Amino acid sequence: MRARPGTVWLLFVLALADAAAGGETQVEPEVASRMLASQTEQFEQQVVKVTDNVYTAVGFHGANTSMIVGTDGVIIVDTLLGPSSAARAYKALREYSDKPVRAIIYTHSHGDHIGGATAFAGDRRPDIYATENFGVAEGVNAVAGPIKFKRNVRQFGRNLPPAEQTNRGVAPANTDDHDRGKGFIPPNIRVPAEGLKTTIAGIDVEFHPAPGETDDAMFIWLPDEKVLFAGDNFYSAFPNLYAIRGTAYRNVLNWSESVAKMAEFRPHFLVPGHTMPVHGEQAAVTMLSDYSEAIRVVYDQTVQGMNEGKGPDQLAHEVKLPEHLRDRPYLIEFYGSVPHAVRAIYAGLLGWFDGNPAALNPLGPRVRAQKVARLAGGTEKLTAQMQAALAQEDYQWALELADYVKWLEDGDRELARKVKIAALRGLAAREYNAPNRNYYYSYANELEAGQLSELWH
Ligand SMILES: [Zn+2]
Repeated sequence: MRARPGTVWLLFVLALADAAAGGETQVEPEVASRMLASQTEQFEQQVVKVTDNVYTAVGFHGANTSMIVGTDGVIIVDTLLGPSSAARAYKALREYSDKPVRAIIYTHSHGDHIGGATAFAGDRRPDIYATENFGVAEGVNAVAGPIKFKRNVRQFGRNLPPAEQTNRGVAPANTDDHDRGKGFIPPNIRVPAEGLKTTIAGIDVEFHPAPGETDDAMFIWLPDEKVLFAGDNFYSAFPNLYAIRGTAYRNVLNWSESVAKMAEFRPHFLVPGHTMPVHGEQAAVTMLSDYSEAIRVVYDQTVQGMNEGKGPDQLAHEVKLPEHLRDRPYLIEFYGSVPHAVRAIYAGLLGWFDGNPAALNPLGPRVRAQKVARLAGGTEKLTAQMQAALAQEDYQWALELADYVKWLEDGDRELARKVKIAALRGLAAREYNAPNRNYYYSYANELEAGQLSELWH
């Protein structure tokens, strides 16, 4: 068992020099591919023996599922997305124990952790543990369901052809999702906010509610084995403090505090909700402490800048992880993104208005495009600038100019669409943040296939 493949760190250091020049997570295409390939080693399918009685199935779906072997039964922590992937993981885990399942624990309510319970439960229904507020975190925004679904497909690259697939940051690209949620069993034992200590199948188990990625999250502590199951409050990648598929504000301060609390337990083994388990007290404590600090630093810098009157556009470019955290392999922005987190914190605390009166009633996109075209010396000149930006591989600028051209009555919309597709693919190839990369490619493909309206919604 290893904490981390060694190559990713070297690649990352190489990439840092590059990243300074372009977007935060933009590097040479070849470097981006190698970095992502290295991250994929974090969820290659296997059963990891964490201790003599704890086994974690990695890579059977997007998340991890674990089995704790007790005297007269086993405990399952998290159950993957659906019964078929759960059954495959369970079969692999069964190599190590055939004792009956006494309990199932949901670390939080995200679908990739709760949908496969029936595959483990068998006929004798085990107790199912979850927090008291289980299920309140997600699904409340059903009204935004249609657009969230579309954006989810893009973020995870669900429709990408194999050549454009890499991974999902903390999960493999290809997962069997056909029976999503079909094996969910509602919890029958609710862990109160103050936590719970109990014994299951002869194993002492502690439940510690710890809001983070979701408000209903908890971590599980085995005091005898010194194993900590972190759920999705820790995995090997910068935390997804905001998901571009669209999420309500995640209370990042709670998240940071929850991870700091985990570090206090000084686990000898750390089992994340995604990515490889971590072996060794020093490694586990350092990772958790750094992770908590990284979240806190991004929050503090954002709040400070906010109180100085800076807006999210400026802060998204200014807020940085400090040097001593930037080179940590488990904080590389494969999944979460610092600039996205900054914007989420800003909006979470202050809402959409950046305080600048120019933003109270900004011009509508069509009028702005007309004025920008006039400023450029006419639509033709603006269009030439758009093409020049693409030719110079100034992809972000090409995208922004294409968005002006598409609004113009006399603009070449078809050309703008082509430029946008090419620019998106240029950005995608250089991107090592998996959600960004998947989103760029997916949107380019939708545009190319004519699946979006004339104004590209
Ligand atoms: Zn998850």
